[in-house]
Amino acid sequence: MRDKRIKLIYFSMKGSEIKYIELSWKKVFVLASALLVFLFIFVGSIIGLFTNYYHDFQNESLDRVNVTLRTQLQEMKEKVQRVQTKMEELEESDDEERLIAGLDKIDKDMRSVGVGGYDYSFAEELAVFSKDTREEVSDTWSLIDQLERRVKLLTESKVYIEQKYSENLEKWEHTPSIRPVRGGRITDEFGLRPHPILGKVIPHEGIDIAAPIGTPVNAAAAGVVKSAKNTYTVNKGYGKEIRIVHDNGIETRYAHLNNIYVKPGQRVNRWDVIATVGNTGRSTGPHLHYEVIVDRRPVNPVQFFLE
Ligand SMILES: [Zn+2]
Repeated sequence: MRDKRIKLIYFSMKGSEIKYIELSWKKVFVLASALLVFLFIFVGSIIGLFTNYYHDFQNESLDRVNVTLRTQLQEMKEKVQRVQTKMEELEESDDEERLIAGLDKIDKDMRSVGVGGYDYSFAEELAVFSKDTREEVSDTWSLIDQLERRVKLLTESKVYIEQKYSENLEKWEHTPSIRPVRGGRITDEFGLRPHPILGKVIPHEGIDIAAPIGTPVNAAAAGVVKSAKNTYTVNKGYGKEIRIVHDNGIETRYAHLNNIYVKPGQRVNRWDVIATVGNTGRSTGPHLHYEVIVDRRPVNPVQFFLE
């Protein structure tokens, strides 16, 4: 079978004439295939070149990002460590406040360790990092966790201290701790002594503070008036007297009074003027007989004075 031929017409510059060559289909096919292969390789190379370049570029910027992230991480960890140092100072002053409030210190180990610690170095999310980075991230997380627990503990401690303070204040306000009469001399101490009128030795269940009639008598602490006896018998008993109930089983008694300004059931605060010094009842001169009774037993009032 005769090969079909194809005419390729081209314009020759030499001699300015139209020429043609004849090629067999087979040759055309070979030439076309060669051209195709060439084009394929050429385009492939260009794509490859650009892809390489792009990858290099991307890698380079990823490297930069990586370095920046690691530096940031390092700085973050240092910052957290600095906060922890500051936290230690806060914890020390917290311990001081606790001591003043009458609370126990919190153990250092208890503050820093606590419960619920988690080892992040095994976290799946961190598997993509290098060992160093993984440790760095894990350490930072642990530090932050620890800090969070310490802040929580400190906050709770502050609340507790505040509570204790107000309890203490409440208790202090209800504890008789002042001389109920400004000035005045203690003419008779607490304890055994020969009775000035009866002559025999009987216990003196309070102290006597000598002061002119009309000298204000102050409540020694906050409390509620238990009794206010406005009547008296001459040369008998404690005369006009007031009893005040404070907290914790403590009572105070003010006797031989002149004027009484309070009524039973009335609330009083420390320093409130409740009466004036008098000479009522069995008394040898103007004075205040003052008693502090703890759990129904008279105790020496002087040991309560803070002034
Ligand atoms: Zn007395």
